Amino acid sequence: MLRLPPFTYLRPKSLRQALRMKVDAGPDGMYVAGGTDLLPNMKRRHQTPRALVALSGIRALRRITGGSGGSTLSVGAGVTLTHLHTHKRIRRHYGALARAAELVSSPLLRNMGTFGGNLCLDTRCNYYNQTYEWRKAIDFCMKKDGAICWVAPSSPRCWAVSSSDTAPVTVALGAELVLVGPDTERVLPAADFFSDDGIRYLTKHPDEILTEVRLPPANGWDAAYWKLRRRGTIDFPVLGVAVWVRWDNALVADARIVLGGVASYPKPMPEAAAAIIGTELEEPAIARAANAAFQPAKPMDNTDFGLAWRKEMVRNYVRGTLQELRARRKAGGGKREA
Ligand SMILES: Cc1cc2nc3c(=O)[nH]c(=O)nc-3n(C[C@H](O)[C@H](O)[C@H](O)COP(=O)(O)OP(=O)(O)OC[C@H]3O[C@@H](n4cnc5c(N)ncnc54)[C@H](O)[C@@H]3O)c2cc1C
Ligand code: SF4
Repeated sequence: MLRLPPFTYLRPKSLRQALRMKVDAGPDGMYVAGGTDLLPNMKRRHQTPRALVALSGIRALRRITGGSGGSTLSVGAGVTLTHLHTHKRIRRHYGALARAAELVSSPLLRNMGTFGGNLCLDTRCNYYNQTYEWRKAIDFCMKKDGAICWVAPSSPRCWAVSSSDTAPVTVALGAELVLVGPDTERVLPAADFFSDDGIRYLTKHPDEILTEVRLPPANGWDAAYWKLRRRGTIDFPVLGVAVWVRWDNALVADARIVLGGVASYPKPMPEAAAAIIGTELEEPAIARAANAAFQPAKPMDNTDFGLAWRKEMVRNYVRGTLQELRARRKAGGGKREA
């Protein structure tokens, strides 16, 4: 049985208090929300904080506000994944996000796991998500305690994979994230929150708290999310495809296609998106977009399934998500009501 290392558990009631506690704890402190990723990681000694600053007692982080009359919808980072995918307005207007949250793991983990924790999820790799003893037996790797990358031994960087379901959707939707630090508050596009590095995968300062996700007004666009995994539950995505299109009557006026599970960050596919802009999303345009996403998608050999098959599935899943959007448009233009 894997045991947690000893730590102090701090339970602030406000954002201010949490920020102060984290500063006082220094580099030995970490925030914890639902704990569904961090606590198993601590059992495997991936992270070994001496103090955990719990965010679950801060009510302000659990609010969902706005979204009526074409305004931005603000979702608190502490909203659970269950709340996210069962919330009426989110299901109705942000069905792709509700779908992504619904596809995370299992009901128990979704009841505890939060939207913010999902966006801050640690990157994953077959050589990293192992017990301490397993990792020690191979002399560790550069993501934690070691010097080499076992996936690409001559590489100077870590290629661990962004495996969050909601991250690619949040980027595809063009959401904004609010980060509050001890003396700062900043708003940044979701795409700028992530970094293509398996070790430094977030641009967030360790003391900053992700407080809020601002979703764009729900008008004139549609989005979809498809997830590939071995089993129909529990498993992390080995591929996530998030697509977003803005319609101008029958034409695609703008588009974004973002892949999860193929890089250390949610990877935008601008060439694939360009292939459908100005089209009616007819089959040849969809095929061009699927090919354009297939070419640069370079899954690494550090998650489930064979590489060539995973790469081929990029083409299939991009095609499938775009066909879903086209079918919905033809059926009346509304968004999918999950
Ligand atoms: C068996 C199993 C299966 C899983 N399957 C999936 C899956 O299919 N898809 C998927 O996406 N995830 C999966 N997960 C991972 C996890 O359950 C979810 O990603 C969950 O949303 C994490 O949220 P949390 O609140 O529990 O995060 P925590 O574990 O509390 O925190 C995760 C990280 O985020 C930081 N953090 C959390 N909230 C904030 C905040 N507001 N501001 C700053 N930093 C913050 C923490 O410091 C920590 O580094 C799985 C986990 C397990 C154990
Ligand atoms: S990609 Fe390389 S360095 Fe990163 S976790 Fe895997 S083996 Fe370790």
